[in-house]
Amino acid sequence: MGKERKEKILELLKERERTPKELASLFNVSLMTIYRDIKELEKEGLVERKHGVIRLKEEDENQRECVICSKDIDGRFNVILFLKEGKRVQACCPHCGLMAFRKFSDKVESILMKDFITCNPVNGFGCWYVVGSDIAPCCSPSAFAFVDKLMAERFSKGFGGKVLGFEEALEELHRLMSLGRRVYLSL
Ligand SMILES: [Zn+2]
Ligand SMILES: [Zn+2]
Repeated sequence: MGKERKEKILELLKERERTPKELASLFNVSLMTIYRDIKELEKEGLVERKHGVIRLKEEDENQRECVICSKDIDGRFNVILFLKEGKRVQACCPHCGLMAFRKFSDKVESILMKDFITCNPVNGFGCWYVVGSDIAPCCSPSAFAFVDKLMAERFSKGFGGKVLGFEEALEELHRLMSLGRRVYLSL
């Protein structure tokens, strides 16, 4: 029972932060019960209390390295993978983001990529990718994420690489890597 409620609390916190009082009335239990749940979730490192509200713990504040290649994350190309149970991991660029999806696949709930043109965070499953282009500002074979397919096509016309949807980009990256292309680290 308590376990189920804790999972639901995490679901609710994904939407936004809540006060213990709110949670108690949502579940129709006493404040004491909610505090006990919160304490357990805190121990598991999943939530934190700040200014009287409960929220999911910001894991990326601690994680400054790419989960795949350990390179420092600089924020221009970074990818955030949201995993089940409110956890998240970060990758340095779409190349490592796609690799991380492979690694965590069944645990991944959503992926945020940065659009190459605007740097705005976008839904990774809905992006267009240019994979294997001639330029590799981060990891190689490079991958770039675009919201706009036309921009992806223009980019690949100028700098090579294939324009692909999410699933195809995963496969193409895998294919290029199994060909044993050299992996260049950042310039
Ligand atoms: Zn990386
Ligand atoms: Zn990278």
